[in-house]
This record gives sequence, C-alpha cells and structure tokens, in this order.
Amino acid sequence: MSELSEVANETSEPEKKSAGPDLPLLWPQSMSKEDHKWVAEVLFRVNAKGKMELKDNLQLWYNPPPPNLLYHQAPTPDKFFSHRLLVWMPYRLWRVSLKCTNSECVGHQLTSGGLHRRVRQVLDIDSYYNLVTETLICTKCRSSYLSWGDAVLQQLDLAHRSEFRVILTQKHAIDIRAIRFLRERTMGNGPVRLVGQLKENHSEQWLQRVNRYTAECMGFRTNNLGLQQISFQRPPDPVEMPSYKWLLTVYSKDILHRLDDIKLPAVQLPPQLPTVQVPTPPQLSTVQLPPQLPTVQVPPQLPAVQVPTPPQLSTVQLPPQLLSLPAVKGPPSLLLPTTTQGPSSLMPPIAIQRPSLLPTTIQRPSLLPSTTQARSKEALAC
Ligand SMILES: [Zn+2]
Repeated sequence: MSELSEVANETSEPEKKSAGPDLPLLWPQSMSKEDHKWVAEVLFRVNAKGKMELKDNLQLWYNPPPPNLLYHQAPTPDKFFSHRLLVWMPYRLWRVSLKCTNSECVGHQLTSGGLHRRVRQVLDIDSYYNLVTETLICTKCRSSYLSWGDAVLQQLDLAHRSEFRVILTQKHAIDIRAIRFLRERTMGNGPVRLVGQLKENHSEQWLQRVNRYTAECMGFRTNNLGLQQISFQRPPDPVEMPSYKWLLTVYSKDILHRLDDIKLPAVQLPPQLPTVQVPTPPQLSTVQLPPQLPTVQVPPQLPAVQVPTPPQLSTVQLPPQLLSLPAVKGPPSLLLPTTTQGPSSLMPPIAIQRPSLLPTTIQRPSLLPSTTQARSKEALAC
C-alpha cells in the first residue's frame, strides 16, 4: 500500500471532512493550525490525478518559514507561532532494510504502509515540534509497525538510531535534550525543578513571539491609518507543561534505553584493568615504624622524680628552747625505757621513787635473831 492510497483512503472517511484541506488523515486535528499550511507545502504535492502524495527527497528536519520583513496585509500569527517538523521515516529516507520480528515470518522484509494517522507534539527545551512517521507492513503476516517503535529502532545502526532523539509515551513525547537535565545528579536537581525550568523557557519563548507579532500588528496599523476596521487574530494560548510525575516516567524510560550502554563499560574491560594495582607505599603494607619511634627515650631528668619533702618531717627538730630543758636525772635503773626514740632532752626520764616502806635489801626472816643466838650460846657455855 503506497502513501498515496493511504492518504486517499483516510481522507474519504467522514471524520476527515472537518479537517484542513491540505493535510491528510488526522494531521489537522493533531497539529497546531499555525503549521497546517507550511507543512502541507513542504511535504505534499498534487499528482497528475489530482491527489496528494509525498514529495521526493524528503528531509529529516524542516524549519518553518520565518515572519515576513514587511507586511502589506494584516499579519497573521501563523508564521510567528509555527513549529519545526521532524519527519521520521527511515524506510523512505534511507531505504534501510527492515524485517518482521514475528518468528513465523523468518525475517520477512517490511514494506511501506503509508503515513501514520496522527502527529505527535514533542516537548523540547523551549518549544514544541511536530513529529510524523510512517507505517510499515509485513506482507506475510500483515503485521503493522510504526517507524518510531522499538521493533524498528532496534534494527537501525547506531548512527541512524541516534537521529531519533524522542522518548514517547501514551500521551506525551519529549526530546532527549530536555530529559538530559535529569541525568546530572546534583542537589535539588529533580523533575519538579525541571518542570519549572521548562515552563520558564517556554513562557519566555512564547512572550518573545507575542511581542514580535504585536509589534508587527502595531506597525501595520500605524502605516495604514486610513484603513477602516483593521482586525488582527489573537495569538495562540501558551501550551501546558506535563506534570513532574510524567517526567519521572520518561526519565525511567531513558535509563532503560541506555541500560545496555551503561553496563557496557563494566562488562567489556581490557584485560589489564581487572588487576588494579594500587600503588601503596612500602611503609603502609608492612608497618615499619621509624627507628626512633620504637625506642622511646625519655630524657634523663624525668625518671628521677624527686618529691621535695621537707626535712623537718623526717627528723623532727624541735625548737631550741625545748632542747635546753634540764634533764631530770634519776637512777638509771629506775628509768623506764621509752619506745619513742627521740632526743633525750625531749623526753626526760621519769623517775619512779621507791616507796620508803620497802627495804632496799630484803632480809630473810629468821626465827632467832643472830644476837639472841649468840647470847644463848654464851649462857650454855657458863
Ligand atoms: Zn510478518
């Protein structure tokens, strides 16, 4: 099925009657109206049969035409608020050979199935851009593929695969340049901060376009004061930003896409890298203390700690007036020994006086006095 027949079939449906006259399928409903005209001009042409078909020699990227330098009619917001276009059609652009991933088809080649029905808006750093793609069909199993799907992207070489820098989800799409800001793991760098930064960038870009458009409208009105009832179209409203939760989801998908690349350096290491030789100084591996450390040399004056003890404590020295006291002299036999050894002048000997009743020499009592015995002997001798 060619692109021409695809376009013809889709535009014949009732819901396409309300669409723009120049764009096929659901492109008018899924694309900003400011882009309808210039996208239809750069991508499509009318063939000999009066039907639209894609032009030859398509490009990957298309930039919208800039605003005119001079306006002889009232300016419209189309050229001030248009968006870029990414035509992701690797089968048509590069003529790559893509195969069906169904195991029963055994690598059956895919063929073009026409344009995808919808246009996706991709969130970029400071604006949106349009993304269109093609459908691929396996003529054997009739399976349909989208060129931005993983089944097709994984069959491309790295150079062509890297040209597709979009992360797609069910509702939104984001450029990889915007999600790269989350890869920097610094303090406070999170999806909330990124949403705030993207809002600021988009708002500034939108205000700049509004300023340019209103300036052209004012200039046209000033130069055409004679005209009556000059009306200008309102500029489009600013687009809304996705939530930070969605950014987290997209960031997780970004990690999954790069998972093989992240693990690659850890798996394929050159043989000399596994043996990491850490240059350790010899004194760290074998603890060798410097020679002056083991022998602690204490200065000689330290061990001899001399506690200053007053000499008067060890040898009691009494004042001289105590020493000059007269020593009481007594018979040396009566002097009681004293355990306190000190100067004799301090402890005078205590003289115990013998009671006078006690005889100094105890005489043995005898029944007969000696004189009595002599007298009796004399009487006996007479
Ligand atoms: Zn197949």
